[in-house]
Amino acid sequence: MSPASTVTGLPTVLVINSGSSSLKYQLLVPDTGEVLASGLIEQIGEASGRINHTTGDHKYVEETRIDDHGVALAALQDQFAAYGPNLDEITITAVGHRVVHGGSSFSEPVVIDDAVLAEIEALCPLAPLHNPAAVAGIRAARERFHVPHVAVFDTAFFSGLPEAASTYAIPTELAAQHKIKKYGFHGTSHEYVSRQVATELGVPVADLNVIVFHLGNGASVSAVRGGRAIETSMGLTPLQGLVMGTRCGDIDASIYMYLHNVADLSIAEIDTLLNKQSGLKGLCGDNDFRAIDQRIRRGDTAAKRAFEVYVHRLRLYLGSYAFTLGRLDAVAFTAGVGENNPMLRAAATSGLEHFGLHLDEGRNASSTKHARVISTDHSPVKIMVVPTNEELAIARQAEELVERLRP
Ligand code: AMP
Repeated sequence: MSPASTVTGLPTVLVINSGSSSLKYQLLVPDTGEVLASGLIEQIGEASGRINHTTGDHKYVEETRIDDHGVALAALQDQFAAYGPNLDEITITAVGHRVVHGGSSFSEPVVIDDAVLAEIEALCPLAPLHNPAAVAGIRAARERFHVPHVAVFDTAFFSGLPEAASTYAIPTELAAQHKIKKYGFHGTSHEYVSRQVATELGVPVADLNVIVFHLGNGASVSAVRGGRAIETSMGLTPLQGLVMGTRCGDIDASIYMYLHNVADLSIAEIDTLLNKQSGLKGLCGDNDFRAIDQRIRRGDTAAKRAFEVYVHRLRLYLGSYAFTLGRLDAVAFTAGVGENNPMLRAAATSGLEHFGLHLDEGRNASSTKHARVISTDHSPVKIMVVPTNEELAIARQAEELVERLRP
């Protein structure tokens, strides 16, 4: 038997997602998905920071300076002490950390010891914006929570991609020397959603071929055959693939050199341009889909064009992944845009009846928050909306690993 919290009678996991200037957390019960508390600590390292802590129906907001991730972890504990739940009355069985890049070293969740932490740190060149923050968050959390800490990697679900899918057509030795290959990201979400699709449809994961569109501010798509990912759109970094909020996704690689030579931009400037000022933002000035949706309804041509570019790219992936899978059972939409924007889902799947996709307009328009089928009853390929829950997936993976290793 694993230790249990006195609040729920069930094991509890603290999930931490450390960004460079923010730290998100959730205390939850992996068995039931119940969230006991959640929070967001923002503007770490800036003159003034902000802490949001939510427990039950109560939300607490505080403004205070947060110098680094160590101070953020202290603030996290202070929030629990001030507003609950009381951590002295809860047995946290594990802390689960979201780590963006696991490189070739990590293909599944791992209990963090000093050697693992050093390896995550060694992967920083592959994810310079993300892994240093994870390392800082893990260090600070290990000092304060003396329970097993588990790293769950965004890349893990894609570590078994077929070689033909993960290999870039550049010289083999150079690619090997610098570990250049397609790693894929959002893996925790793609794995969780593909399994939820199987559960919702009542079929074994092993029998299911599904395409998952994770469409948030970052966006990616995966092709999953029998529970294993065989393709995904993000690459060495999360810049490749679909058009995103501020990232360009696929472009001709020569644009880098061209901008450098012709527009006199430095590599760092081009990096910022393609990661932070491109995508929907670059096309129409907005990266929030709600704003773009409203502008389209008002007849704004730049917003309409951005939407069309976004949809065009998405449909190219839908078609090519369907062919890669050979047989397609379901297409699932998830994350902020995928879960909430019927106009996008309709544009992505319209006119594809010949290929077995029959959208039901009424079902697509419904705004219920649950996983659901939005295609017609006779649609050979099921079109679905499946809310993602990366925190729950991380908590479950952390709890399972700790339970498996318990003497
Ligand atoms: P995420 O990264 O998953 O949080 O998703 C962020 C994106 O989802 C932003 O572009 C939001 O505009 C979009 N989004 C969130 N809620 C809604 C909504 N209710 N309707 C349309 N788009 C939404």
